[in-house]
Amino acid sequence: FRERKLIVHIIPFENRRQILVTHDITETQRAEMMRRDFIANASHELRTPLTVIVGFLEIAASEDLDAATRAAHLKLMTEQGHRMQHLIEDMLTLSRLESVDHPLRPEHVDIGKLMEQVLREARGLSAGKHEIDMTVEAGDLMGSAEELHSAFGNLASNAVRYTPAGGKIHLHWRDTAKGVQFVVEDTGIGISPEHISRLTERFYRVDKSRSRETQGTGLGLAIVKHVLLRHSGSLTIKSEAGKGSSFIVTLPKSTAAAPQPELLAG
Ligand code: ADP
Repeated sequence: FRERKLIVHIIPFENRRQILVTHDITETQRAEMMRRDFIANASHELRTPLTVIVGFLEIAASEDLDAATRAAHLKLMTEQGHRMQHLIEDMLTLSRLESVDHPLRPEHVDIGKLMEQVLREARGLSAGKHEIDMTVEAGDLMGSAEELHSAFGNLASNAVRYTPAGGKIHLHWRDTAKGVQFVVEDTGIGISPEHISRLTERFYRVDKSRSRETQGTGLGLAIVKHVLLRHSGSLTIKSEAGKGSSFIVTLPKSTAAAPQPELLAG
């Protein structure tokens, strides 16, 4: 039984008073439910790789394995260990982003450097399987370089992971009437409309089995959402199943950085 707030409306109707009672879950209870869901999901996500690791260790302890089987088991265990590491890193990142003790301290963000970093990482992940290019048409901004790197990097890595080999990915930093925008366009698997509004929920995935293969933690877009909340930004997702997606980050122009003195000189 979940505790709920009762809302009582007294509605006059044909000279009689009728009472309508509705139930509403209070904000605190909603937050508590989300916390419980998060713990249940996180435990499940951590248990899966751990089960694989413990299973292999038990086999290795009880059987004489030949060198090739041993090597294959060690490789799988290492992969599962890395999966747990990524998940824990993403969980820590999310909790830092939400912490009130960790307010945003805006600094000058060198956008050229940041975009190059994101491009390099995306190309590294793609390992030559995609055509990835980039256009930088707007200037620097104020914010947290580390957090923006994590948001832009997650969007670029999703584009690589959800685009089959041979596809194209375009990273774009541009100035628009709405604000400065970071855009990632891909020619990947796309997303059907019913999923789009839920993508930034923690652990929400369109296809659970597929994202295991693509090594996702299910927290990438939740991290993007929290970074953008801290930067007064927004995320727009345009996508068509089977055709590709565009993820558009819009940041207010007020975050545009004043030109640095050394850039003005000369
Ligand atoms: P994950 O680690 O599973 O990729 P994310 O939070 O980054 O988690 O993304 C949530 C889900 O959104 C993914 O599981 C995937 O179904 C969908 N998704 C994200 N980016 C893309 C994209 N560029 N193309 C298609 N689907 C995407």
